[in-house]
Amino acid sequence: MLNLPDHYIDLHPTVRDLLSSECQLYIGGQFVSAQSRKTFETIDPSTEQVLASVSEADATDVDRAVQAARQAFEGDWRHKMTPDDRSKLIWKLADLIDERAEILAQLDTLDTGKPYQTALTVDVPLSAEHFRYYAGFPTKIEGATIPVSTQGMFNYTIREPLGVCGLIVPWNYPLLMASWKIAPALAAGNCIILKPAEQTPLSALYLATLFEEAGFPPGVFNVINGYGRGAGAALVEHAGVNKIGFTGSVATAQTIIRSSADTLKRVSLELGGKSPNIVFADADLSNASVGATWAIFGNNGQSCTAGSRLYIERGIFDKVVQGMVDEVSNIKIGPGMTHEPYNLGPVISEVQMNKVLSYVDEGFQGGGEAVTGGKRMTDTGYFIEPTIIVNTTDDMRINREEIFGPVVCAMPFDDVNDILKRANDTDYGLAAGLWTTNLSRAHQFASKLQAGTIWINTWGNTDAASPFGGYKQSGHGREMGKEAIDLYTEVKSVWINIDG
Ligand code: ADP
Repeated sequence: MLNLPDHYIDLHPTVRDLLSSECQLYIGGQFVSAQSRKTFETIDPSTEQVLASVSEADATDVDRAVQAARQAFEGDWRHKMTPDDRSKLIWKLADLIDERAEILAQLDTLDTGKPYQTALTVDVPLSAEHFRYYAGFPTKIEGATIPVSTQGMFNYTIREPLGVCGLIVPWNYPLLMASWKIAPALAAGNCIILKPAEQTPLSALYLATLFEEAGFPPGVFNVINGYGRGAGAALVEHAGVNKIGFTGSVATAQTIIRSSADTLKRVSLELGGKSPNIVFADADLSNASVGATWAIFGNNGQSCTAGSRLYIERGIFDKVVQGMVDEVSNIKIGPGMTHEPYNLGPVISEVQMNKVLSYVDEGFQGGGEAVTGGKRMTDTGYFIEPTIIVNTTDDMRINREEIFGPVVCAMPFDDVNDILKRANDTDYGLAAGLWTTNLSRAHQFASKLQAGTIWINTWGNTDAASPFGGYKQSGHGREMGKEAIDLYTEVKSVWINIDG
C-alpha cells in the first residue's frame, strides 16, 4: 500500500497504478517479472519510505532481453524500416514525452526527491529535445567515397548500427541520462537494453510504454532493473551485447572495462569530475557569486560537472564567498513532491548522505571551516545543508575526490599562471569554468584547461547539439552532437574492382 505524506501533490492516476503493483522488467514488448521472482525496493529519499517493489533482474533476465533485442535487430527494425520511418518514430516518442511530462516528472521526483517543477520544466523537456535532435539523424548518417590510390578500385564507406547496446545509467537525472544514450543509439539503428540505476528504476518503465504507444517494434527497447553487480555486470559480460554506454563512477567504469575484455565489446564512458571553477578579480562579481553557487549546488551537487573546486583571486575572495553565502541563504530545501517552491531536495540515499558527510568531517579535521552548512538538516530524509568550506588545500581528499553532494571548497589564488596548473592538477577532466571580463584570458584558459567542456561566465549549459564528455579519468568518447553517432555506429570500408 503506497503511503505518501498528505502534503505531497496528488499523484497522477498512472503513477499511482504503476506504484501499486510490482514494477516489472520490460522485455520484448512485454512487462514481465524477473525469472527468480526476486524484487527490490525503491525508496523516497525525502521520507525514507518504500515507494514501490521492483523486479530484480539477474543474468537469466539479461539473457532474455538480449535475445529479444537481437531478434528485433535482425527483424523489421533493421531490414524493413527506412531511416525516415525511424525518424518519425523517434519524433513521435519526443512528442509523447512532452505530452506525458507530468507522469515522467512525478516518477523522477519520487525516486530522486528533486523538486517536481525542476523535473517538469528541465529534466523532461530536455529529454524530449534530445530525442527530437536525434530524430533528424537517421536520414543523415552517411558514408563517404574515398579517393584511394590503387588503380581500378572504387572504395566507399558505410556506417552501420552496432547491434544490441546495453545502456547503464545513474540516478542523478534518471530520464535525461537515459535519453542522452537512447536517442543516438536508436537514431543509428541499434536495439537497446536500458539498465537504470537501482535507486531510480521508475521513469524508464513508463518510457517503455511510450515506446509501445509510438509504434516501435517489440524488442527495440528493453528495460532491465536491478543492481549493478547483478543485472549491470551480466549486461557487460554478455557476448550478445555489442556495446556498453555507461554513465557513472570511475570505479564502476574500471570494472566494466575489465569485464568487457573477454568480449571486446565497444565501451563508451561518461564519468565523474572534480571540476575547477576560477573567479578572476576582473569578473562581474555578482554574476560570478551566483554562478559559482549554482555551479555546485544545482541538483544538490549530484552532477558529474559540479563546480566543486572553487578558486577565487585573493583580493575578491571574501566578497565572492559572502555573495555565495547570501545566495545560499535564499535556497529553499525540502521534499520535491510538495507544493512548496523548493529549489533543492534531499540527496539520493542514506549511503550517499553518509559519504558526503564523511568527506565534510574529514575536511574539518584537516583544518577546513564551513562558512555555511556542514550538517544533515533533518532526522528523516537525506537532506544536507549546502556547504561552503574554506581553509582547505589542494592535496586534501575533499579537493581531489568526487563528493557528488552539495559541498564546495573555496580557495584563494594569487598567481594567474599558477592557477592554471592547480586547476589541471586532477585525475578528472569533465568540465572547467572561469569568470572574467578579459577576452584574451578567457580564450587562453579555454585552450589550456584540460576538460571536455569549458564554461566562461556561465556554468552547466548543455545542449543536444554540443558534444559532451571527459578528458583523463572523466571518460571515453563524446555524447551529444553528431559525435554521439560515432559511439553507436561501426564504419565499413567497401572495395570494388571496377577494372573488371
Ligand atoms: P554510483 O556510485 O553513483 O551509484 P555507479 O557507477 O555505482 O555510481 O552506478 C551507475 C550505474 O552503474 C548504476 O546503474 C549501477 O547499477 C551500475 N553498476 C554498478 N556496478 C556495476 C557493475 N559492476 N557493472 C555494471 N553496472 C554497474
